[in-house]
Amino acid sequence: MTKKTRREFIRSCSSAALSMLVLRPLHALAAAFGAGGRSPGTISGHANIQVISGEGGRPPTASGFEPGYIGLHRSGELKARGEELREIMRSCRLCPRECGTDRLDGAEGFCRASSKLEISSYHPHFGEERPLVGKGGSGTIFMTNCGLRCVFCINWEISHEGRGDRYSTSDLALMMMHLQKIGCHNINLVTPTHYSPHIVLALDTAAGLGLRLPVVYNTCGWERVEILKKLDGIVDIYLPDFKYFDSEMSAKYSASAATYPKMTMDALLEMHRQVGVARPSEDGLMRRGLMIRHLVMPNGVSGTGKVLGWIAENLPKDTYVNIMSQYTPTYKAAEYPAISRRITREEYADAVARARKLGLSNLDIQGSPPG
Ligand code: SF4
Repeated sequence: MTKKTRREFIRSCSSAALSMLVLRPLHALAAAFGAGGRSPGTISGHANIQVISGEGGRPPTASGFEPGYIGLHRSGELKARGEELREIMRSCRLCPRECGTDRLDGAEGFCRASSKLEISSYHPHFGEERPLVGKGGSGTIFMTNCGLRCVFCINWEISHEGRGDRYSTSDLALMMMHLQKIGCHNINLVTPTHYSPHIVLALDTAAGLGLRLPVVYNTCGWERVEILKKLDGIVDIYLPDFKYFDSEMSAKYSASAATYPKMTMDALLEMHRQVGVARPSEDGLMRRGLMIRHLVMPNGVSGTGKVLGWIAENLPKDTYVNIMSQYTPTYKAAEYPAISRRITREEYADAVARARKLGLSNLDIQGSPPG
């Protein structure tokens, strides 16, 4: 796995096509390439751009798949949605904190994000769910900062301490193009919520440059339905966590986020309405659907039985559910006795048995955790 820093990002753009993209304003570039409706493969005289387009070098429509954002880009709706989301940053309500910060005036919200986009790294990721990884990896872009702020966060340096660099939305579009060029199967946006305006505007630019990969919205699950509705037709794969069933637990371990269970349930229903059940294509790759992650925590903190019960009752039984065993007490977890250890084999086996008993049939099950 190769992670890229900002310096490496600039260096990686030194190929003929990408250096042109970096050195010239994107709007000028889009005009030069005639982006904004025409298929990149039809643009004459720009062979490099033809190489960039397509999934791993194959024609974008080889699987009969076209991501939803392409049509929205062509109609101008994608840009309009990005601008609508951007306006919301004026008194920010992008996430359930609804802290009302005027990010457009340069202030930082509870999540510590301002109007400036910050990204920690971007690279092919081979540790995500198999239908996202394939042979070329999931094109993962780690966003800096977070509105949920769990005490056991495994990415605490990025989410809590702000490790990352500032980029423009044009840079983000180029990252997406780079990940497509090197053969990744999707654009996997990790912790995207507070940067949803930047993401949508970057997608609009990237779509004009030939991006054709499905977009994965890799979120903590704590989302506002009103904001998700603005992503309808843009996101191809929702990859949310369902972390807690009990609001006391979410309040205790995620910075007073007592609304987590209810808001996440509402969010999951909306995500399912938009993209439906996740089913891989013939080549084994996922291109659309809802993929839920549930991290089993020690001592029943995550309410695993109830979480699985809710899914079985409220979503189709073949909803994709990844029951995750890798809980590790990182960051401040050692200060909380109930979550200061890994889970036992029995706790994980109980979770799997429960899911099967409930009739959930599309389970992603991992090897036994260390006891
Ligand atoms: S995204 Fe950040 S600034 Fe916006 S409401 Fe959430 S915490 Fe506040």
